[in-house]
Amino acid sequence: MALTVPETSGALEAYMNSCRGARTAVIVGAGVAGLTAATALAGAGWQVEIAELSPSGATSGWGLCLTGPALRALAVLGLADGCLAEGYGMSVITHVDVDGEPAGRDRLPRLIGAGRPAMAGIARPVLHRILHAEAERRGVIVRQGVTVTAVDQDGELVRVQLSDGTVRQVALLVGADGIRSSVRSLLGLETSLDFHGQMVWRALVPRPQWATGIHHFAGKAHSAGLVPVSVSQAYVFVTENGVKQSVLPEGELVPRLRQILEGFPGRVAEIRSLVSVPTSVVRRPVLTAFLEGAWNRGNGVVIGDAAHAPAPQMASGAALAIEDGLVLAEELGRHRAVGAGLEAFVGRRRQRCRTLVETSVAIAGLERAQRHRETYPLTDAGHRLMAAPA
Ligand SMILES: Cc1cc2nc3c(=O)[nH]c(=O)nc-3n(C[C@H](O)[C@H](O)[C@H](O)COP(=O)(O)OP(=O)(O)OC[C@H]3O[C@@H](n4cnc5c(N)ncnc54)[C@H](O)[C@@H]3O)c2cc1C
Repeated sequence: MALTVPETSGALEAYMNSCRGARTAVIVGAGVAGLTAATALAGAGWQVEIAELSPSGATSGWGLCLTGPALRALAVLGLADGCLAEGYGMSVITHVDVDGEPAGRDRLPRLIGAGRPAMAGIARPVLHRILHAEAERRGVIVRQGVTVTAVDQDGELVRVQLSDGTVRQVALLVGADGIRSSVRSLLGLETSLDFHGQMVWRALVPRPQWATGIHHFAGKAHSAGLVPVSVSQAYVFVTENGVKQSVLPEGELVPRLRQILEGFPGRVAEIRSLVSVPTSVVRRPVLTAFLEGAWNRGNGVVIGDAAHAPAPQMASGAALAIEDGLVLAEELGRHRAVGAGLEAFVGRRRQRCRTLVETSVAIAGLERAQRHRETYPLTDAGHRLMAAPA
């Protein structure tokens, strides 16, 4: 359904209020989950507004691996081809052991067609631009520099107070605001964040010609790897074991990352020589979260990392987030009452997301114990699970 979007914020508010009772939604967070849920809902006839905290909508500059289920879900939204065109399609993960010897190859399921790549590496800002453009094309209003400050259930509607002082009364509130979700707290849904004694690094580098798939190198203390994100770029990943959560000064990032990479044999020496520009290096704690209790209250729900955040080792958090958006729109389309649709959504998603989070936690534990070979079948099992329909 085409929307005529008012140009001033007063007119916008009046417009949203005029939609009271209709299929209207506020989504909090314009990340992978928020933008894809907005696109799927708008495609199903919902009028959607996103409140995004970041004023610029900018994302950190490292890359992401869109695995088969992510591409399959993006294909439903008509976005897989764009991601493959701007990213880097690939199908194989090559494992290399601590001594630099080959330790096996995983050929991942090709979920969008036998002749098409199983997955795609892509720079995060590129993925964000593609998702954002499609959401806006479908009439979604994205408001940046705004968050939600209060939520009240008001009969069949949710009353959402925004940080700019305006109020929305909508049929649906979606918290897609990441692992530290505020909406989760505002809905009274609580979970703990678990830290796994690991910090992960990402650094953008020129793509070496031999890097046509994911390479994973086990090290004596840490593990490392490379993921192509375009014809010309790749990102290096490193998992640092046995560390406390900490923030390093920017000037120390490149020297420290190069020092960690010194401990690896073989091709990692070449990767190490490519790590140079400090602004392309990020270091984050390995945190996971899983909402054991309800994910929804009244007509509010949390999706993506706000409900289930796996460790990055499974490279599947974005896939789960995109699937969430599709399944949410599907179940809301099947049920007249929003609350019933949300129950059905959570029912379909809970076990798949729990297993994935648990698998990622087990992999992190084996890595800390230097039992790298045992992580390969677990990673494979995780990808096979995700190959089943969402
Ligand atoms: C180092 C690292 C590497 C990873 N690699 C991969 C990978 O290769 N493949 C993969 O599938 N997954 C990967 N993941 C996981 C993936 O990044 C997440 O699962 C995914 O981004 C979750 O999407 P989301 O939209 O739920 O949350 P986010 O991406 O965190 O987006 C949340 C959005 O909400 C906004 N926001 C936050 N708080 C508020 C608020 N109060 N009000 C309004 N807006 C708010 C944020 O600014 C952001 O735009 C990785 C994670 C990490 C940490």
